[in-house]
Amino acid sequence: MLRKLNTLKQFGNLNFTACAAYHSTRKIPDLTRDRYSVKRGDYGTLTNDDIKYFESILSNRCITDKNDIEMHNIDFYYSYRGSSQLLLKPKTTEEVSAILKHCNSRKLAVCPQGGNTGLVAGTTPIFDEIIISMQLMNNIERVDEASGVLVCQPGCVLEKLEEHVSQHNLVMPIDLGAKGTCHIGGNVSTNAGGLRLLRYGNLHGNVLGIEAVKADGTILDLMSNFKKDNTGYHLKHLFIGSEGTLGVITKLAIACPPASKAVNVALVGLNSFEDVLKTFTSAKRNLGEIMSACELMDHQSLRFSVDHYKLNSPIGEYPFYLLLETSGSNLKHDEEKMNSFLESSLARGDIQDGVVTNETVKVRQIWAIRELLPTAKINEKYFFKYDISVPLSRFYEIVPVMREHLGDSVCDVQGFGHIGDSNLHVHIICDEFSDEIYKRIEPFIYEYTAKMKGSISAEHGIGFQKKELLKTFKQPEALHLMKELKSVMDPNHILNPYKVLCD
Ligand code: FAD
Repeated sequence: MLRKLNTLKQFGNLNFTACAAYHSTRKIPDLTRDRYSVKRGDYGTLTNDDIKYFESILSNRCITDKNDIEMHNIDFYYSYRGSSQLLLKPKTTEEVSAILKHCNSRKLAVCPQGGNTGLVAGTTPIFDEIIISMQLMNNIERVDEASGVLVCQPGCVLEKLEEHVSQHNLVMPIDLGAKGTCHIGGNVSTNAGGLRLLRYGNLHGNVLGIEAVKADGTILDLMSNFKKDNTGYHLKHLFIGSEGTLGVITKLAIACPPASKAVNVALVGLNSFEDVLKTFTSAKRNLGEIMSACELMDHQSLRFSVDHYKLNSPIGEYPFYLLLETSGSNLKHDEEKMNSFLESSLARGDIQDGVVTNETVKVRQIWAIRELLPTAKINEKYFFKYDISVPLSRFYEIVPVMREHLGDSVCDVQGFGHIGDSNLHVHIICDEFSDEIYKRIEPFIYEYTAKMKGSISAEHGIGFQKKELLKTFKQPEALHLMKELKSVMDPNHILNPYKVLCD
């Protein structure tokens, strides 16, 4: 039976870093350098003279207080911890340039940081790298409704940009669960994918221009207002997804699509993964141009979110759930299309039950189940998190395999993610970090992914967490070229060391 959604408990977005209770209840993780036996690179050591220099350009935005730096030394999931002694908060491109020029001349390593929601340990220092927080570079320069071009600094919080561009009848081409905290600069630096990549494509297509500062302080103006600009090599792409290892992004031009007038969301329950695939294939065929998201949650992950956040689930118990969204310009037409698709799927037995709504509050309530899922119980448990691309036909295969492989040694293995983009997230949940479990999971999960000809990082990047894997999973010639590029752009390797590439 297909039902219209009546009421669901409302749940807004969480701003994680501002949530004091979240930080005060967490167990401080081991230092990353100790847990993973990392050797410090041949970098300079911060002196009082360096601090005096930074104070001369940034005044009170040069922070040495241990307590104020603590939150920037630890990652979002409390899995990694660095020991930086200095946090810098520039406001302008010129300030970033002066900082990097000085650091390069002194061979002081730096770690650029956005909203610190990154999931691969790219965002926190490993040793004493100076943290350059982009938090105060949060000005919106302009929005042009006709062309859809937004120009802003990298420290703008994604959700704030979403609110701002909506006043111009536009939407951001990217949306993710961490939008209340992550920065657009962080999104671009990780080439984040998120919930609507299916509709708007990835950031390589949506970033029109970039201004970035190289390691030696040189300001590179790669700004453009156009989708078409074939003037030589497309250098901006080097900064998209390079995780702060090639330069610091200081300005961005983003192409924002028009806001949709009509949004419909359905949450459906399914009996098997085979039915999930049938439903997704049929959704692409029948909802075509208006489909804007398709997310999978297995039973364990939906329950995890609903139980933890005490949400009212609008649907019964099924092995799998699909969240389908359409965004279009004609409510009646889109509603008819969605209903007809759902009814025929139900009649064929592909889906067992479902709810559908186009009321804004209820749309947000359904999305909350999916968006809050990755944060449920994060202050109680340890999460081994995996983000892989795998062929659709074998999309969910790894989840039961991991359950079998790990047995009772872990609390739970959950599978969910952006099935519309072949991107699965696997969460392996334990009471606390265990080296023994870690060694049972890795490299097993990556080798399994490689056997399926998948990608070991679909959207979160490489960071510190996966850099050793590049040696195994990337073609040596491609890796060599990456290293050459790094050496050309950052000869002293001061930008986000210990990340992405092995020394
Ligand atoms: P940070 O975590 O601060 O930094 C990430 C990397 O970018 C680091 O290497 C850092 O050095 C670099 N960096 C940051 N700013 C700059 C800059 N201005 N110049 C140069 N380098 C810079 N990711 C997805 O792709 N899709 C999702 O659906 C998704 N959902 C998430 C849901 C939750 C609940 C959480 C916690 C995370 C999620 N993520 C997701 C991961 C994360 O939110 C993204 O990687 C995000 O893009 C990181 O942005 P940030 O501002 O927090 O960057």
